[in-house]
Amino acid sequence: MISEEEARRRILERVSPLDERAVPLASALDCFAAQDYFARLPLPAFDNSAMDGYAVVASSCKKGERLRVMGEQPAGPDRKLRVGAGEAVRIFTGAPVPEGADAIVMQEDVTRNGTDISLNIDIETGEFVRRRGCDLAEGQMILARGERIRAATIALLASQGFADVMVGGEATAAVISTGDELVKPGEKLQAGQIYDSNSALLRALLQRCGVSATAVEHCRDDRESLGNAIKRGIKNHVLIISGGVSVGEHDLVKEALCELGAKIEIWRVAVKPGKPFLFGRVEQDTPSPKSSQRSAQSRAQPPTRSAGEGSVSGSECLVFGLPGNPVSAFVTFLQFVRPAILRMMGATNLDLPQVPTKLAFGLTNDGDRPHYIRGRLEHEKFTPIGRQESHALFGLSQANALLRIGAGQSLKADEIVDVRICD
Ligand code: AMP
Ligand code: MG
Repeated sequence: MISEEEARRRILERVSPLDERAVPLASALDCFAAQDYFARLPLPAFDNSAMDGYAVVASSCKKGERLRVMGEQPAGPDRKLRVGAGEAVRIFTGAPVPEGADAIVMQEDVTRNGTDISLNIDIETGEFVRRRGCDLAEGQMILARGERIRAATIALLASQGFADVMVGGEATAAVISTGDELVKPGEKLQAGQIYDSNSALLRALLQRCGVSATAVEHCRDDRESLGNAIKRGIKNHVLIISGGVSVGEHDLVKEALCELGAKIEIWRVAVKPGKPFLFGRVEQDTPSPKSSQRSAQSRAQPPTRSAGEGSVSGSECLVFGLPGNPVSAFVTFLQFVRPAILRMMGATNLDLPQVPTKLAFGLTNDGDRPHYIRGRLEHEKFTPIGRQESHALFGLSQANALLRIGAGQSLKADEIVDVRICD
């Protein structure tokens, strides 16, 4: 049995980023930038009005003053109007500020009489003018290589005129849920059977990583079916197998993988829940129709991996065997599968977000493995929730954070601890 740090290190050693690609902004959400991006334009790109109102020269604008309205500037092409003392231009939000004007007076603060307005307040220079470059300077970095592209990132790239963005490769993944006891939700249960919840869980967790599973299938605890399912699954960059990795007679995953020539790199990790976790690699013999451009290229060329330089070469599938208990599957996915997938996709930050928070009550880990406690982070306090056993799915469903408590470690009530957000 190895430590979780060692397991993570061994896994990540075997992963290198997939080939970069250009995608339209519309497809870039949750991808990772493959290069640094810099502002092509300042934001705002020109001085413009923050309000519907009148563009004026502030020094000639005292309360009670009358101004002549010389024209109108809506948002859109610059009409190249000019404003002098005693004059105003009708203006609308986002419209370029006419030459000579240095303030905008809100329409609510004037009384209009035909072609004139009278001011109901004093005006100060710069009021309601959004200055060129006040938000973002030209040349400023707007997105770093490896950063996740969020909705606002997409908006920022669009505001700079980028139609496409270079992102990391698209990882493909398949899920196999093993177990004779499993029944598909929607079907009828018989005594002793349970619904397969890990398929849904793993599909959703993959989705959270920006990966849509190419296949999610159930497989009985039977050598032949398992072997066939694995053969299909390894056409992807990643194959996740739930259940069947423990030590019982019906735990056939390890054997089935070995029969297919898999190199088992990890089996059993000192972590609770999740001990029977397995990680291995299998050579693919048939190219995947959905594999990335790079995979296709690397298959056509001899492997170029040098000693010690692990990589997903495109002819190899990384296989993760997760324990069937739902909480174990959840924790091992987040600790081991997620970082591997994120690295493939070009991410730099592979960790769950961590926040310091107060522990609601004292906890001791008497065990010999670090324990991930499920809990709720609310009002800057972390409260363990539900049964802390690996089958306890309800508690997990109420949790939004994980607290790692080391083997033999005691934590006191109100102590500040780092928890990982797993919402
Ligand atoms: P295993 O790892 O196959 O020994 O399974 C451990 C426990 O997890 C058993 O109680 C299984 O019934 C349960 N389990 C296995 N696979 C699933 C699944 N896909 N959905 C829900 N529970 C599962
Ligand atoms: Mg099983």
